[in-house]
Amino acid sequence: MQPQNQVQGALEIMYILGEYLKEISGFDAITLQPAAGAHGELTGLLMIKKYFEKQGDTKRNIVLVPDTAHGTNPATASMCGYEVVELKSNDRGQVDLESLKKNLSGNVAAIMLTNPNTLGIFEEKILEISSLVHQAGGLLYYDGANLNAIMGIARPGDMGFDVCHLNLHKTFSTPHGGGGPGAGAVCCNRKLESFLPIPILSKDKENNYFWDYNKQDSIGKVKGYYGNFGMFVRALAYIMANGKEGILQISKDAVLNANYIKEKLKKYYHLPYNLECMHEFVLSGINQKKQGINTLLIAKRLLDFGIHPPTIYFPLVVPEAIMIEPTETESKEELDKFIDAMIQVDKEIKENPELVKNAPYNTPVARVDEVTASRNLNLCWSSSCN
Ligand SMILES: *Cc1c(COP(=O)(O)O)cnc(C)c1O
Repeated sequence: MQPQNQVQGALEIMYILGEYLKEISGFDAITLQPAAGAHGELTGLLMIKKYFEKQGDTKRNIVLVPDTAHGTNPATASMCGYEVVELKSNDRGQVDLESLKKNLSGNVAAIMLTNPNTLGIFEEKILEISSLVHQAGGLLYYDGANLNAIMGIARPGDMGFDVCHLNLHKTFSTPHGGGGPGAGAVCCNRKLESFLPIPILSKDKENNYFWDYNKQDSIGKVKGYYGNFGMFVRALAYIMANGKEGILQISKDAVLNANYIKEKLKKYYHLPYNLECMHEFVLSGINQKKQGINTLLIAKRLLDFGIHPPTIYFPLVVPEAIMIEPTETESKEELDKFIDAMIQVDKEIKENPELVKNAPYNTPVARVDEVTASRNLNLCWSSSCN
């Protein structure tokens, strides 16, 4: 709430962070306002919508979303008033070009893609996809939740995307989950720049930073104040501490870690897409389920080994999915501990399934009724706060 001339240092932090994020993603302009990835998606699609309105192109009412997409993608598109059309993946876990061609038309506003996608697979045909969509007059939205697989190696701007969000709370060091704050910076190219939310952080001739509200085509403000500032400091510190080489190394290490676990575990759990993966990969617990133990029970048993279980039952294209995303910061000892626990659980399923069925044994609460928990939320943690 202070006047701009008293917060020049804070504005400089935001400005420099913005410059780095534009360079890393390959885009021309940025806003740090959105408070999460989903909020970035909303911002990006509102910008796309305004872009077509400005051109008088009112018939584009469809957004294409692959079947591997995160649930926020179709949710965002329908919140923005678009009809969502699902694209089928092929047997390599990637967008099927025939399905894309069949669905492209003058009614398509945009395609939303994650690359690498949620199966941890890089879309090999991305350049073909982006030129097909552009030829049909549509735009491309990049869901940047998986950026940590490709930093310093490939840039969404160079792949042909027009706008993207970056989850600072995933790729740039702030831990996510547990209800902490998020930050979903949105970067775009020149086509969409004038639609970014106001105010835009700018620098005048005397190198003073200021908020520019004078943007007629802007979609308006999308958040109170200027975003989650604490996360900008952390993201900037992370980028500067790692440097250009370090940023590249982060992605190489994340990809190596995921492939290491994949190779060790594919003998024990079904691997539906047996390709080299990026920073994550997806196993299926279908064989374990045949022995009476589903993926939820496997995740519960992992708690007894002191392990936060991976994401389960997502992406939806894999039955009994177990999505494993180790990140770049885990040591080999930690990776091996996880691998050993997964192998041990598989052994227990064969030898003593009752043990797994009743897990976990070492947590204060074993099972929660998730439906009741979300419908009748009770945030008291001690008897004195009722
Ligand atoms: C996490 C995630 C999102 C949503 O981001 P939030 O910051 O949680 O809103 C969107 N897409 C993918 C692929 C994600 O992993």
